[in-house]
Amino acid sequence: DTIRLTDLAHQMGIKAQDLIKKLFSLGVMATINQSLDFDTALLLAAEFKYEVERAGFSEDDFLLPKEADKAEDLKPRPPVVTIMGHVDHGKTSLLDAIRSTSVASGEAGGITQHIGAYHVATSRGEIVFLDTPGHEAFTTMRARGAKVTDIVVLVVAADDGVMEQTKEAVSHSKAAGVPIVVAVNKMDKEGADPDRVKRELSDLGLMPEDWGGDTIFAHVSAKKREGLDELLELILLQAEVLDLKANPDKPGRGHIVEAKLDKGRGPVGTVLIQEGQITQGDAFVCGMISGKVRAMFDDQGRQIKTAGPAIPTEIQGFEGIPEAGDEFVIVKDEKVARKIAEDRRVKHRDKELAKESKVTLESFLATKAGEEAQNLNLLLKADVQGSLEAISEALRKLSTDEIKIVLIHGGAGAITESDILLASASNAIIIGFNIRPTAKIKEVAEQEKVDIRFYDIIYKLVDDIKAAMSGMLSPDI
Ligand code: GDP
Repeated sequence: DTIRLTDLAHQMGIKAQDLIKKLFSLGVMATINQSLDFDTALLLAAEFKYEVERAGFSEDDFLLPKEADKAEDLKPRPPVVTIMGHVDHGKTSLLDAIRSTSVASGEAGGITQHIGAYHVATSRGEIVFLDTPGHEAFTTMRARGAKVTDIVVLVVAADDGVMEQTKEAVSHSKAAGVPIVVAVNKMDKEGADPDRVKRELSDLGLMPEDWGGDTIFAHVSAKKREGLDELLELILLQAEVLDLKANPDKPGRGHIVEAKLDKGRGPVGTVLIQEGQITQGDAFVCGMISGKVRAMFDDQGRQIKTAGPAIPTEIQGFEGIPEAGDEFVIVKDEKVARKIAEDRRVKHRDKELAKESKVTLESFLATKAGEEAQNLNLLLKADVQGSLEAISEALRKLSTDEIKIVLIHGGAGAITESDILLASASNAIIIGFNIRPTAKIKEVAEQEKVDIRFYDIIYKLVDDIKAAMSGMLSPDI
């Protein structure tokens, strides 16, 4: 973002010498051949009552063209799985059990590395597991625009049944439109009651296949390593339905699932490739960071030269530390990579300054006006189950042909950070009934630019939503 001093002078109709004099008076020594950065040009122009605008820059002029894939170029790719479930129901144990049994049987030689994701080979195909279980990581990624997970494995302990975070996980998966495979865990325990789990999940809309629904259930014991092969098989069955394909023969594109600063190696990031191919030596841009692939490793710690779709790959050569969820894109060369990254940083800064909410009750109608059917996404938290049900019912009745009220999640209890992430990722407004936010929650909501509204009288809440739907809400409530 620079402009030559002579060009600026020309555009303002002022002699270059006069600009140089002015710069001198501002304490900047300049020559006629000088280029000025944006801030200096801004300052200088202001002295002469001119405004400076940054010249338009479009990434699309620099990114490699996104051509539509021909059907014959699309090849099957492995499914990417995230494990979710209530705390202590066995998410970590299950991830570890799958990892160690499949490594033991399949890939001798490599030593498992924790790079944020791993893949297992079964006789029927490969599956990729993300290493960070839970819906927080899942929805954080989604809030940043990364849709990485194809299938959610919902772990429910057979002796404990559906708990609060189980319900949350279901809401998060549904909001993302990701199918769920249920793993009923701890089947070895006395008091294991898989039928109870089935009943409770049916109430949440996950009807088992053997009861006429379409949700796949597997019975496992992570501890005894039982039922794991069946679980993998059922995941692949679900994947077949999804018909996952990608074109491996083009410049790679994917998302960061984990990144860190390594003492010896500098910034490293694990990329889950979604299409195309990444090869050592490629230049890339990743969020607001650029780089060049200096070295790549697989999940067994082995150095590789190239990788294709859905293969978790640890990459060295980032100019900074990327963040989980950042998009990773191969570009023509390092110069282009730097230019795009720089532009994104500038735009990010500008956007931060102009902070705006994603959607507020006030803006709902204004921003969406003109579209045909509209969804007003709401996330409802109430002090007790009773009021939750009463409000859900009242809100549901408000839906019209033009505007549909979608309750993406409802729960009793305080608003959590995970609620805010879900609202952010789903462009939803949070409604709190008879509860108060903590300072921390207010802060996170502000950061994520999520609108939270509090009520303690149901009819007042309903009136506001009605008003918002008819575009008549006064903005100062
Ligand atoms: P997470 O919080 O969901 O990741 O749960 P963990 O994997 O940490 O497991 C919580 C506890 O349950 C640990 O003490 C595990 O040893 C135990 N656990 C996990 N799976 C099983 C299982 O299949 N059977 C039994 N009996 N215990 C299990």
